[in-house]
Amino acid sequence: MMLVDSHCHLDFPDLAGDLESVMALMRENQVTHALCVSVTLEDFPKVLAIAEKYPHVFASVGVHPDYEGVTDATPEALMRLAHHAKVVAVGETGLDYYRIKGDLEWQRERFRNHIRAARLCGKPLIIHTREAAQDTVRIMREEGADNAGGVMHCFTETWEVAKSALDLGFYISFSGIVTFKNALALKEVAKKVPLERMLIETDSPYLAPAPFRGKMNQPGLVKYVAAEIARLRNQSMDQIAEATTGNFFKLFNVKKDISHAIT
Ligand SMILES: [Zn+2]
Ligand SMILES: [Zn+2]
Repeated sequence: MMLVDSHCHLDFPDLAGDLESVMALMRENQVTHALCVSVTLEDFPKVLAIAEKYPHVFASVGVHPDYEGVTDATPEALMRLAHHAKVVAVGETGLDYYRIKGDLEWQRERFRNHIRAARLCGKPLIIHTREAAQDTVRIMREEGADNAGGVMHCFTETWEVAKSALDLGFYISFSGIVTFKNALALKEVAKKVPLERMLIETDSPYLAPAPFRGKMNQPGLVKYVAAEIARLRNQSMDQIAEATTGNFFKLFNVKKDISHAIT
């Protein structure tokens, strides 16, 4: 069995401080690869350094919507940074009307620039959306995000939103939230999303899945996300692992090179 964590933040201090034990748990839980996602250009060199050091870790480049007052980038600048063999995606980008309030035109403009960058460099988008689904989907349509493709990460929205994203050719990624007892509506969405368009992630160090809720999360725990989805869909862990891992390599255009897997 091979599992992939499609979204984590290994450069954040909680994880960066002890990467060797993070890698050890990945190995133990058969999590063979991870995608370390960028949130600011200031921290991008750290993300890239981790991806360069570990053959089984990939990187993205982008500026997260929750970071106000950090360096913004033109589509051309993002495209230049994305031009690296280990950088497989643009993001995370999107809209967050929960964490940040006020006039958020800067967030929407930043999101548009990321979609333009993804189209320019031909790499998929990693999209974050929170309490902003309508505007997120509207801007995806307006900017032709379907030409780049990508994933709606840490999905917590309704089936209608999932359907809109699927119609644009996007994948849906589930995090530890799907394991939470009270996430009943999300569990229903996880039953309906076609397996060939599904990814799994931790978004670590946040959102540890049950039974580790509230503790520090890490890529090795993506196994518990896969287990819950298998349970919900009456499928085997192997089926969920094979599909989501295959989807990861396909979406991010990574050659399925087992020699680079951590084992
Ligand atoms: Zn996010
Ligand atoms: Zn994230």
